[in-house]
Amino acid sequence: MTTVTRFAPSPTGHLHLGGAYSALFSAARAAAAGGVFLVRVEDIDRARCRVAYETSILDDLTWLGLDWPRPVRRQSEHLDDYAAALERLGGMGLLYRCFCTRSDIQAEIAAAGRAPHGPDGPVYPGTCRRLDPARSDDRVAAGEPFALRLDGQRAIRVAGSLRWRDRDRGTHEADPGRFGDVVLARKDVPTSYHLSVTVDDHLQGVTLVTRGEDLFEASHLHRLLQALLGLDVPDYAHHPLIRDGSGRRLAKRDRSLTLQALREAGKTPDQVRAMLPPM
Ligand code: GLU
Repeated sequence: MTTVTRFAPSPTGHLHLGGAYSALFSAARAAAAGGVFLVRVEDIDRARCRVAYETSILDDLTWLGLDWPRPVRRQSEHLDDYAAALERLGGMGLLYRCFCTRSDIQAEIAAAGRAPHGPDGPVYPGTCRRLDPARSDDRVAAGEPFALRLDGQRAIRVAGSLRWRDRDRGTHEADPGRFGDVVLARKDVPTSYHLSVTVDDHLQGVTLVTRGEDLFEASHLHRLLQALLGLDVPDYAHHPLIRDGSGRRLAKRDRSLTLQALREAGKTPDQVRAMLPPM
């Protein structure tokens, strides 16, 4: 089977050294296996993503010497695929509407006096899971916006025990329970990071998901979604994050370490590659 990897940037800022490392890591894993390296644009967040950033990121990747099949998949153009996945999960009785605002959730957590912490932040206390269906319909009819959440415990029972493999860190028993009931369709966007990334990796035939180790925990949840949706199960490889001089991970605000800034300062692609750890 041909190895297919991908770099999946969200165009919310210019490419920085951390992103460049992620792309080079992915391309190196594909090249080592004589495989294919893809780029996918994760632009579901219409409020934060900009076409200008997408153009700039793709231009920086080309400057670095990377190449990939065109056209790139842009998530904003494939909302139907995510809707179909939601339809399937809904049909399995695994989704519920959640009307909570951020402050509703905070108040509920404060009242409960405990806040288990999951990989994406405080675990949702399950308020709307207990909502009477007729009441939920009334709120929709009244025009209240809602998100769709996965009923995590029920989903885990349906899927049974699962495993996934990190090429560098071995096989793991999937443990998605720590996420609680994740949002799969947001109030403002009819999908979510977790859903669209999992669906796309399947649809694009990705066999090796490469990404930063900040997303290591997410792989537990993505394995659950694959099982529920009947998707192919890729292998994973999580790379270390690039840190700045004081040990903090690079963020989009660190202008000086964007490829744009490095290029303006006269660096060559080889010099930029030399600033990064070996793949
Ligand atoms: N779009 C995500 C990000 O920019 C990466 C998604 C992934 O590689 O799974 O952080």
